[in-house]
Amino acid sequence: MTNCSTTQTDCTTQETVVEAARDYSFATRAIHDGQEPDSATGALVTPIYQTSTFVLDELGVNKGFQYARTHNPTRSALEECLASLENAKYCLASASGLSAAATVINLLSAGDHVIVGEDVYGGVYRLFERVFTRYGITFTYIDGKDLDAIEAAITPQTKMVWLETPTNPLLRLADLSAVAAITKARKLIFVVDNTFATPYFQRPIELGADVVVHSTTKYISGHSDIIGGAVITSNDQLFEVLKFHNNAVGAVPGPFDCFLALRGVKTLALRMREHERNAFAVARFLEAHPAIEAVHYPGLESHPQHELASKQMKGYGGVVACVVKGGLDAAKQVVNNTKLFQLAESLGGVKSLICHPATMTHAPIPKEVREPLGIVDGLIRLSLGIEDANDLIADLERVLPRDTSKTTTNAPTEKRIPVGAAR
Ligand SMILES: *Cc1c(COP(=O)(O)O)cnc(C)c1O
Repeated sequence: MTNCSTTQTDCTTQETVVEAARDYSFATRAIHDGQEPDSATGALVTPIYQTSTFVLDELGVNKGFQYARTHNPTRSALEECLASLENAKYCLASASGLSAAATVINLLSAGDHVIVGEDVYGGVYRLFERVFTRYGITFTYIDGKDLDAIEAAITPQTKMVWLETPTNPLLRLADLSAVAAITKARKLIFVVDNTFATPYFQRPIELGADVVVHSTTKYISGHSDIIGGAVITSNDQLFEVLKFHNNAVGAVPGPFDCFLALRGVKTLALRMREHERNAFAVARFLEAHPAIEAVHYPGLESHPQHELASKQMKGYGGVVACVVKGGLDAAKQVVNNTKLFQLAESLGGVKSLICHPATMTHAPIPKEVREPLGIVDGLIRLSLGIEDANDLIADLERVLPRDTSKTTTNAPTEKRIPVGAAR
């Protein structure tokens, strides 16, 4: 049992069923699947096949590769590994998470309608609203945890339901099995963006989703050094269409990026355990801190969907959001002054990042729209890296407004040298 979160005890039986579908457990597959020694040279590590085309043995006879937009061995290795990790049949690597999303929308035609979780990633929202509406596809945004709202939004033109869970930045959940029951009954394609959870913590296809989308830019590559995406499915017919579009549109990743993603994914199991451990430590520290108004983390008992998270996920991930008392000024004071947490968009790398959704990722959304969604001025999002938890907590402790009337129990007691000074 390798991919059971240490914070949960009840996933043993579920795990056994999942593992039976494949020969090896998750951590082993991440290192071996698609990554046999190179057949031509014996190279242990899948080489970077930096070539645009492949020479035919003779007319009509090739070695399985023809032109690198269609296939590349480094990319094929990554695809086989990612399909295996989602316990799915097929994967198509894409140039970015957004091009992966575009590949999936290419399953549709003018006149079709999509139901979308209202707090999808901003770039996905922009792609849908500013690009695909111009091609006659329509989108309705609903609260992904509201099953009645999903049912009510279905029209005769509806072809697809698109959800993220947990969502960004508030870590809200959608009940994947319950939504899958609706989409199956209504013959809709159910797409889940699994970027935040990763297949280590959540496998939507096992819960009834038809297609999984990833920004491999985040946890899958894990080192904040590439942009990449993936589309994963077990549905033969959908795969044929997706594959056609992937090649016909041509937004494919280069072999070096595939190599880096494949290098990163080998340690996905290890990293996710550490991301989560740090997320728990920081979430608990924040929950006890007098300067913090609210903490959003599905692993906390205080999260309104903690039970659902424990049911459909094997762990709670590495992103934590919190609201600092004092609004914009207080939030600015925090994000501008941390030393380890780097002020940047994105998430899922080994280095911890901090961001202020209201002025960064969600800035284009008017205040009166974002505030009722919970994206208030005091909201801060943390992507926990895999540094030492005590160092991360000390970094936050130092910049959070002090309240001398109360001392926190989780604060580190030893005196610490600021990282900047140590360097
Ligand atoms: C980053 C992200 C995307 C977009 O992926 P890119 O690789 O930046 O194109 C899509 N969905 C989620 C949840 C993301 O975090």
